[in-house]
Amino acid sequence: MKKPIFFKTDEEIELIRQNCLLVSKTLALAGSLLKVGITGDKIDKLAEELIRDHGAVPGFKGYGGFPSTLCISVNDQVVHGIPSNIPFNSDDIVSIDCGVLNNGYYGDAAYTFAFPEVKNEVIKLLEVTKVSLAKAIEMSVVGKRIGDIGFAVQQFTEKVHGYGVVRELVGHGIGQNLHEAPEVPNYGRRGKGVLLKKGMVIAIEPMINLGVKEVRHSSDGWTIKTKDGSPSAHYEHSVAIGLDSADILSDHSIIEEAIKNNAELVGISPKK
Ligand code: MG
Ligand code: MG
Repeated sequence: MKKPIFFKTDEEIELIRQNCLLVSKTLALAGSLLKVGITGDKIDKLAEELIRDHGAVPGFKGYGGFPSTLCISVNDQVVHGIPSNIPFNSDDIVSIDCGVLNNGYYGDAAYTFAFPEVKNEVIKLLEVTKVSLAKAIEMSVVGKRIGDIGFAVQQFTEKVHGYGVVRELVGHGIGQNLHEAPEVPNYGRRGKGVLLKKGMVIAIEPMINLGVKEVRHSSDGWTIKTKDGSPSAHYEHSVAIGLDSADILSDHSIIEEAIKNNAELVGISPKK
């Protein structure tokens, strides 16, 4: 049986927004902490403190047995990386995904950061992935369908730029559960799939590989890596479906402000 879609009231959307803003704040903290030599472990610990100081709890920790507050996925790690004690290098890209739970609702967002020695072709991958998220959000309005969102991502990243669009992992509805219906794939056909309606809140999260689309599971039981070892980018927003435009509940601008103030990171600010 198909899982039901839970439609949210305006009040519920505000609760989800508060959580998404705390997620964004946590990712901004990560963006201010990321330095060559610091470890994911350290950032994870401080992220958890920030979330708990706000009276919320980490949404990922303990979810299906996941051990940490953040998913930190480096270079060829696509998603679900476990923060480790390996220091970051000056040529790493670092995808950080964060969820929080408060007042019975979740928030979810992600951002891929880059150190200064990351190759131009990889910076381009990050820029294109970020733009694909924006294109997907443009489709997140009443009357469009889930396939329009996936098509927007796939068309731009795969057709225009030749990147690999991960198929095994998808975006999702979000609310009282971290993962709700509908699934939000990063590939699809225009005009197909679930009809978007007012009250739907979805997390859109393109996971795009510089090389092939295929991924493999690591022996730690969590980390997803690209099959060919190529780097992978991941940007995520939680959005409420709107009449004329989507209501973006998470906020990348405060993350980008932190990056601007961190001399050890380079900004990902694509021109559309
Ligand atoms: Mg996420
Ligand atoms: Mg998500």
